[in-house]
Amino acid sequence: MELLERFLEYIAIDTTSNSKKNTNPSTKGQLILAKKLVMELKKLNINKIYFDEKNCYVYAVLEGDKKLPKLGFISHLDTSENAIGKNIKPQIIKNYDVKDIMLNNKKTLSPEIYPDLKNHIGKTLITTDGTTLLGADDKAGIAEIMSMLEYFVNSTETHGDIYVCFTPDEELGLGTLNFNKEFFTPDIAYTVDGSSVGEFSYENFNAASVTIEINGISTHCGNAKNIMINACHIATIINSLLPNEIPANTDGRQGFYHLEEINGNVSKAHLKYLIRDFDKESFTKRKELLEQIVNVLNRKYNDCIKLDIKDTYYNMYDVIKEEDTLITGTINAIKSVNIEPLILPIRGGTDGTKISYEGIPCPNLGTGGHNFHSIYEYVTVEDMNNTRDILISIVKEFSKNNKKQILRNKRI
Ligand SMILES: [Zn+2]
Repeated sequence: MELLERFLEYIAIDTTSNSKKNTNPSTKGQLILAKKLVMELKKLNINKIYFDEKNCYVYAVLEGDKKLPKLGFISHLDTSENAIGKNIKPQIIKNYDVKDIMLNNKKTLSPEIYPDLKNHIGKTLITTDGTTLLGADDKAGIAEIMSMLEYFVNSTETHGDIYVCFTPDEELGLGTLNFNKEFFTPDIAYTVDGSSVGEFSYENFNAASVTIEINGISTHCGNAKNIMINACHIATIINSLLPNEIPANTDGRQGFYHLEEINGNVSKAHLKYLIRDFDKESFTKRKELLEQIVNVLNRKYNDCIKLDIKDTYYNMYDVIKEEDTLITGTINAIKSVNIEPLILPIRGGTDGTKISYEGIPCPNLGTGGHNFHSIYEYVTVEDMNNTRDILISIVKEFSKNNKKQILRNKRI
């Protein structure tokens, strides 16, 4: 089946996840897509399929030469609830001429606002009709993985075991909640969930979430001297003592403090922060600074501040940096299909982070899609085909190695 045909079939199924639902998966549409994928895997005669219907995970293995490295590929079934994912009406624009695209009579996709469009001259663009998202995040990834599998099913080339996994509710941060490692045991794996074709990311933020509770003392303002402790006032002092490294002032590998929530009155105030940093040491220093500020203010204001810092995830680079073969092999594989690798740190987290820390190094690859989670989302047929070729090339690249080389740092 053509990759485009697959993609169009997948985006026709509404798999929008829903953060207000407490079920796993959060929505039924994801199960419909999962079942469809199971059918397709069966049609491809994949030797091992495990469908965890209860939790909506699809696992499959195309078995290969056991002496060769085992590779895994992961994409997610759901789409973001930030834009509508139902009744998607894709528009296919052949031979794109880098002009404005009228999505409908109100919305325009313009290279002035989205300059990346200028990189797609002459390609076949798939856009929305301006009322929904497209779903390239991450159905482009699923279509690319399925087409890569189809290639190896029909090929006589030698390869190791190829694992695939399709997960639910990634957009809710729950993609690995019920992930079962027993059914997914490759030596290395990739999430196929990034943007530009050729993107290769093996770094992400270290992340912590912070809650601060301030219990003040309220009195009549006229008699407040030496008695009142104004919780709101202390909240503003805490924020003013932090460096001005906030999301709006940072990019690339810079970290930040993000004041996510602030509310309160004289008696009680509440702050929530996100702390993000690529570097472990500087991540620790950020947390220490907040502790120092709170300690100083607690001495002055009668221990009225409670600070709670919880680490949420860590930079996968601390696992992957030992894996020279993985990094250089992936770069070689991308180059060998004449695509320039785009090595980008992820200013967020990915499912690959958790999987990496569970022992399967799991960087992220681009899908070819752009402007995710919005009505301006688009992808090109050429970039999806190129991404499939990158996946094929990665399998071939690692089929040249024996297992010892790829695993020289750990495991077995
Ligand atoms: Zn995604």
